[in-house]
Amino acid sequence: MKTLCLVVPCFNEQDVLPMFYDEMLRVISTLSGAYATELVFVNDGSRDGTLSVLKQLAVKDPSVKYISFSRNFGKEAAMLAGMQYAVKADLIGILDADLQHSPDLIPEMIRYIEEEGYDVAAAKRSDREGESRFKSMLSDSFYRVINRISDIEISESAQDFRVMRQSVVKAILSMPEHIRFSKGIFTWVGFNVKWIEHKNRERAAGATKWSLKGLMRYAVDGILGFTSTPLRFSFFFAALFACGTLGDLIWALARRLTHPELPMAVPMICAAVFFAACVILLCIGLLGEYLARVYTEVKDRPTYIIAETNAHRPAFVSPELPEIDKI
Ligand code: UDP
Ligand code: MG
Repeated sequence: MKTLCLVVPCFNEQDVLPMFYDEMLRVISTLSGAYATELVFVNDGSRDGTLSVLKQLAVKDPSVKYISFSRNFGKEAAMLAGMQYAVKADLIGILDADLQHSPDLIPEMIRYIEEEGYDVAAAKRSDREGESRFKSMLSDSFYRVINRISDIEISESAQDFRVMRQSVVKAILSMPEHIRFSKGIFTWVGFNVKWIEHKNRERAAGATKWSLKGLMRYAVDGILGFTSTPLRFSFFFAALFACGTLGDLIWALARRLTHPELPMAVPMICAAVFFAACVILLCIGLLGEYLARVYTEVKDRPTYIIAETNAHRPAFVSPELPEIDKI
């Protein structure tokens, strides 16, 4: 029998998990025994009763696995841990715990992979119901910028909600970076992707975990993780500044020759000095951003730390893949 492993990142989801589990059971039963299915919940340092809910589910259902982090490491780390565990399954799925990613779509995703030969079936949001105009505007600008200046093309409406073949997940796990931007990674690895339109649903319970600051950080990580174009801005500004200085000198010289009685334009010189300082600071700031990333990667710290789990399956960790870090 084929195996299907569904990865569910959870952060403070105690209210929604029982509902999620019931819906999942219903969907799994429609797969009519074609797949041995496992649900892998990754508890990303929740401060509510998420872990105890997961433990209760695991007691009554042995196909429920949980991996519980020692603190909140973020959704990216949770997805990574889940995929590292799930990679030996034939098909691996990822979906949110809050039921915004409708489990009903999973059988359709599997059908596209099994019957039409796609490697990935992923959800694309068909509308933006429930999202503020401000968030939509920020998100639009972010995707315009990243698609313009990087080599990858990320669809603004693409979601993490997807089912993938094992080969795709192996490719994703072969990317060793610690600051992970999955939307970029999913696009970067390529493969044959079937996009399925999916209506944005309201969260079933609980609240969103994204703050404006968190979203900004996510956007910066995405851009700096997938392009080094901003580093080249310094060359552009330097060239612009050099031209400006040259023009300024020529103008000052010409004025000196034609009107020797006029004083040199002091305010203009001041402006030029300030401008130069701004350019230099901007370039140093950009270098600093990249340097910070190099520093983080070089430190090679684990992306997450597992405090507790029932997901022990040594056979699932192949030698060429990073092992799940345990304490
Ligand atoms: N999540 C997580 N770690 C975090 C934040 C979120 O594992 O630090 C999980 C969360 O439990 C949910 C999914 O990631 O299953 C999406 O989070 P959320 O619903 O808050 O995001 P939104 O749907 O508002 O973009
Ligand atoms: Mg959500």
